[in-house]
Amino acid sequence: METLVSVKRAQELLATHPFKWVTEEVSLSLAQGRILAEDVFAKCDDPAFDNSSIDGWAVKSTDLAKSRIEVGTIFAGTKPIMAPIKPNEIYRIMTGAPIPPGANALVMIEDGIHGLARQEYIRKKGENISIGERALSKGDIITPASCALAATVGYSTLPVRSKLRIAIIPTGDELTQPGLPLEPGKIYESNSVALASLVRKAGAEPIVIKPTLDDKESLHDILDRCAKEVDLILTSGGVSMGEKDFIRSSLIDRGDAIFWKVLMRPGGPPIFGYWNGTPIFGLPGNPVSSQTVFHLLLVPWITHPDIFHRKVIVKMEDPLRGAPNRLCLRRIQITPTDNGLIGRTLTHQGSGNVRSMVLNNALTLIPPGVDIAIGESVEAMWLIV
Ligand code: AMP
Ligand code: MG
Repeated sequence: METLVSVKRAQELLATHPFKWVTEEVSLSLAQGRILAEDVFAKCDDPAFDNSSIDGWAVKSTDLAKSRIEVGTIFAGTKPIMAPIKPNEIYRIMTGAPIPPGANALVMIEDGIHGLARQEYIRKKGENISIGERALSKGDIITPASCALAATVGYSTLPVRSKLRIAIIPTGDELTQPGLPLEPGKIYESNSVALASLVRKAGAEPIVIKPTLDDKESLHDILDRCAKEVDLILTSGGVSMGEKDFIRSSLIDRGDAIFWKVLMRPGGPPIFGYWNGTPIFGLPGNPVSSQTVFHLLLVPWITHPDIFHRKVIVKMEDPLRGAPNRLCLRRIQITPTDNGLIGRTLTHQGSGNVRSMVLNNALTLIPPGVDIAIGESVEAMWLIV
């Protein structure tokens, strides 16, 4: 087991433990937001034939404008005319209709029948994409536009990565489910709802388990049962140095721990390994820590980061303290202005203060040992959540 690894090293270690994705075909109407499992190649040219981009007339550019004789009309969806047009013959043509053979330019209806003929109004066969060319790439997030491109080049379904099944297990004797009365010394359990939403956004299926006590027996029991059924177990709490931090001690003693503790703040004590052959990621219990670790380590491992954030450079209007030896994830509020992106810190930065994740919208990536003064720029992950 490696300990006190950098964020980069933790990401590398996770990447060497990829999931066994299965490829499934989904209809285009359900494909949006899924991740493409294979490259997709065009089954036809786009456009499939030379056609008109305007309503107007199809003409031969070498004929004189004043001698044009209209001999018919071509609508979109009609079979292409086979016989070449004769000198001075022109056709009325509608947007999307095939260009008759021999015509090489178009006149806009607004310019009148003797108007200027322009070749660039013809949309040429294959000018957007040709048959056999790659339309979409493996690993792309499927967007509304990429669904449209897939349909354009002949697909009704797309191959996507199967959804991972992810168990979420909150642990802690103090946890009370929201809605129940709060006894003295207890707190409402909040990590599992945030994690379930994040997991769903990552295109995976969350299976939320009710809070487990800090008790080895019940913990092992639930881990044994989950390990048989899911692709990944996510726990929250019980990974630091406390006497009842059994996720950490059990994974090290009975499981197969790969790394523990990452050089980041907040979110220092995560642990990753295997329980009975199933990957298990132990997130810290502090609400901010569990979310920041999810963003930094889980997102690139289980999904496409573009779904979750944009990396940007922000000019700070408040000073930020970094952390010695650790990547520091301060929560900041980014606002776009005429002078670029500016950042403020709106709340105190305690890792238990989940409100700081609501009032702010970004996480800084302050390198170890660096402080940011007012007016200085800092890299940040602008969250799209
Ligand atoms: P732990 O990582 O178990 O030491 O917990 C660290 C802090 O996070 C403690 O203050 C816990 O009460 C709190 N905490 C742990 N799990 C949760 C949870 N599921 N929801 C909200 N707070 C939690
Ligand atoms: Mg605990």
